[in-house]
Amino acid sequence: VSSQEHPILGSLNDAQRRAVSSNAATVAILAGPGSGKTHTLTSRVVWLIDHVGYRPEDVVVATFTVKAAREMKDRIGRALGDGREKKIVLGTFHSIARRYLAAYGRQIGLAPKFGIADDNDSRNIINRICKRLQLTLDPPAARAWISKKKAGGTEGESKSAKKLSVGLQELQKCYDEYQKQLKLSNLLDYDDLLVRCVELLRKLPSCVSNIQTVLIDEYQDTNGIQYELMKLFAQRYRRITVVGDPDQSIYGWRAAEIQNLWRLLREFPGTAEVSLEENYRSSQSILNLSLAVIQQDKNRYKKVLKPVHSKGTRPVLRRLKSSTTEADWIVSEIRRTLLLTGNMLVHSDVAILLRSAALSRHIESALGKAGIPYRMIGGFKFYDRAEIKTLLDYLRVIHQPENNDALGRIMNVPRRGIGEGTIKNLIEEAEQSSMSLWTLLWKHCRGDRAAKTRIAKHAEQRISGNLLRILNGLRKQIGEAASDKTATPFSLVDLIQQLLKALDFEKYLHDTHPDDHEQRWANVLEFVNLAADFSRELNQEGDDPLPEIEGVDQAIEAEVLPRFLANVALASDAQTGDKQEDKPLVTISTIHAAKGLEWPIVFVPAVYNGSIPHARSEDSDEERRLLYVAMTRAQCLLYLSCPSYSSSSNGERTELSSFVNPINLAFAKKGPCLDRAVLEQIAHIVRRPLPSQKAIFGSLPPMHCTEDNLFPIDPDEAQKATNTRRIGSGGCSSTDASRFKRPRLSG
Ligand code: ATP
Ligand code: MG
Repeated sequence: VSSQEHPILGSLNDAQRRAVSSNAATVAILAGPGSGKTHTLTSRVVWLIDHVGYRPEDVVVATFTVKAAREMKDRIGRALGDGREKKIVLGTFHSIARRYLAAYGRQIGLAPKFGIADDNDSRNIINRICKRLQLTLDPPAARAWISKKKAGGTEGESKSAKKLSVGLQELQKCYDEYQKQLKLSNLLDYDDLLVRCVELLRKLPSCVSNIQTVLIDEYQDTNGIQYELMKLFAQRYRRITVVGDPDQSIYGWRAAEIQNLWRLLREFPGTAEVSLEENYRSSQSILNLSLAVIQQDKNRYKKVLKPVHSKGTRPVLRRLKSSTTEADWIVSEIRRTLLLTGNMLVHSDVAILLRSAALSRHIESALGKAGIPYRMIGGFKFYDRAEIKTLLDYLRVIHQPENNDALGRIMNVPRRGIGEGTIKNLIEEAEQSSMSLWTLLWKHCRGDRAAKTRIAKHAEQRISGNLLRILNGLRKQIGEAASDKTATPFSLVDLIQQLLKALDFEKYLHDTHPDDHEQRWANVLEFVNLAADFSRELNQEGDDPLPEIEGVDQAIEAEVLPRFLANVALASDAQTGDKQEDKPLVTISTIHAAKGLEWPIVFVPAVYNGSIPHARSEDSDEERRLLYVAMTRAQCLLYLSCPSYSSSSNGERTELSSFVNPINLAFAKKGPCLDRAVLEQIAHIVRRPLPSQKAIFGSLPPMHCTEDNLFPIDPDEAQKATNTRRIGSGGCSSTDASRFKRPRLSG
């Protein structure tokens, strides 16, 4: 195929071009990080729509994170250039499943207006069940078992109770009760979204009869149920394109099955396999060290991956005293590199990737102190902040009063004089009698004395006079707006504003959080902004309804509230600040959420045994793959670091991660010298103009600047050199050093 056939082919190498324009029904691309898998996949979407002629609404594209989905949509949009990408059924598996269930769920008996139980909800419900039924189970283990059972796609008739051992019997009991409670609250958990969608597509294949083809990114992380879903979406024409990398499979704990790769090749004979062997992302030295890590896995599926870029500067491995000094070092390295690149690189070119969200504290505080703006993705949820959660719970109850958990959480927020214990008892009472807490409270307040749990008189008054009245008032309003077609469309922002007013929320924050009520109120205002943005986006470019299919009724989701709530629940990896994409912010992310993304500068802190590999992980190979994913996000500069002492090491000295230890000598010990050659390479990789020597020196504070001396500003060194004007480096490799005079350290 020549690139004259379609401009999209122009940006591809031969193998990529073959994959993009392949006529094979099923195409599988297995290749390493940075080889252009995602680029190839989005190009194929453009090719299929713009060249082959598929309607965009007949194409399904699935990936794993909300951020990756958004990025793909943007890339496809830029290539198509006419807005057709909005019609593509594109998103995470969960969001696609939710869309289909919202449109067609009635056909499988799903109550309209179902809500989504997020991880917190599931945890609470299971905790309560274990307690109430006096199960000897460990609730988190029970939850994992339930999720695995659903996500494995093998949910079948439960085996007869006799055959089950006690543990299994209890698990099954817990499972059944959990499903019952979800149903009572009209909630689907994340797994249910997929399970029910599979059920829907099996029962009603016609609702996907228009789907011409299905394309999946990060295929190595699909689990059994997602595989099912993929097959069902493609059931009519059996056209599937998958791209993935077994070395980057990092969701084993969520029942991702690497076997799905082999299963596809088995079940779809004639699949065209394409391998991509050039890495376009990283400098050679970054790629080589990453490969040195993954190659420690002797059982991996081996692939060729060659760098297209030259060597570049060596990745850095740095040991620091504590997590605090580690965070300070990261901050000073960020400042130093941005300065020394003459601002060719900016804050948004930097990512700090963490094995677990708990590690972010020191980093956040160091960035905050230095006044460096940052945003957080993955695991650190804006929506998890107490004040935001409260507002969300109010909205969830307004949408779905039968949501017991949400209602339970807001009963005493703001304070209404009702204790934690009473709330628990009330929820239990409601669940036992298969009634919703909402109904139970109304009974109470109407003076129905049949209820078992007693509520103090004054609390009862506040619940009926304040809580129930506010909720009902707001419910009525949106109910009326929805049924009155001529009314001005109900605004989500109005609803939230009214809620804030009715609760006197600002005063509540002021009274209960004297120290940081301003920050909390600022978060609330940010939340209102997010809601406003969401409504605006929905008006302008929200997903179109699915295409009409003859003989199949489709419910049109007109209301903005449920869609907003679903968006929040499914955006577990998205974040506030996402909207501020254009502002140059440093990114702090979990490694999991960074999958598929890339940054010119990447820091991976806390590289010690216990952190990575994580103490609680049972699969050390998967931990190694996680580190590999983190390292291969870097384009130009990569920094690993390890504090000698950390709060989680109980005062013991930490050991450098066993994945890095065997190759630790291959790393540089200090921040790189950013000489001309390094800058040239960075400019080449990030495709930006190289700043002039003058621009670089002009941006340096004069005290630290001499013409022949580009030095790292390193906190330890800086301390040693406080009495001198020159701050020493020592971070240059020998070849780097030969290019300029090495500054002498005095003091
Ligand atoms: P990962 O496994 O991490 O998801 P990937 O294989 O999906 O990586 P991409 O993100 O698609 O890789 O591409 C990595 C980088 O290489 C991107 O910046 C992309 O624009 C660039 N790239 C891909 N193919 C080419 C090409 N043929 N020529 C130049 N640059 C390319
Ligand atoms: Mg990718």
